[in-house]
Amino acid sequence: MTEEQMKEIEQAVITILKAVGEDPNREGLKQTPARVAAMYEELFSGLTEDPAKHLDVYFTEQYDEMVILRDIPFYSMCEHHLLPFMGKAHVAYLPGGKVVGLSKLARVVEAYARRPQVQERLTGQIADLIMGHIGARGAAVIVEANHTCMTIRGIKKPGSVMVTSAMRGLFRSNLATRTEAINLLTGGRTL
Ligand SMILES: [Zn+2]
Repeated sequence: MTEEQMKEIEQAVITILKAVGEDPNREGLKQTPARVAAMYEELFSGLTEDPAKHLDVYFTEQYDEMVILRDIPFYSMCEHHLLPFMGKAHVAYLPGGKVVGLSKLARVVEAYARRPQVQERLTGQIADLIMGHIGARGAAVIVEANHTCMTIRGIKKPGSVMVTSAMRGLFRSNLATRTEAINLLTGGRTL
């Protein structure tokens, strides 16, 4: 983020503090605008990052079985309330001649998570990138998350977990492949 963007966030935080009836100049709040700006820079860093770059390094490998990375922790911001939602992403793909390092899949999840998001889109974006960028024959993504906008406000349902899935390619067209993926991605737990 530029210095100008950081200043804009600080100004906006001061405006909000005033609007809720606070005194932005009282001691405890003095550094708050700067702290929030620094925090948003980190939480929204995905906006200035191209997730595809993480998949530019791949290996040509004649491995055509499923590759799975389970329990990738992520933290994101619900774009409706600017409150965090967090959980785990599980990613599987069927290589079409190209294999990527597992840590790269985690980087893709992070790049898409660090921006104003909705869980459904996050799930689909990860699957679409794997399909499109490394020519996978199939991609399956399951995301499980707690939404603080549901637990601390509104209907206040702590403990509820939202589950979304995106199935592409063979995971969409072949029922047996899809079932195998879901079992492996969820470790046999029933969602
Ligand atoms: Zn929300």
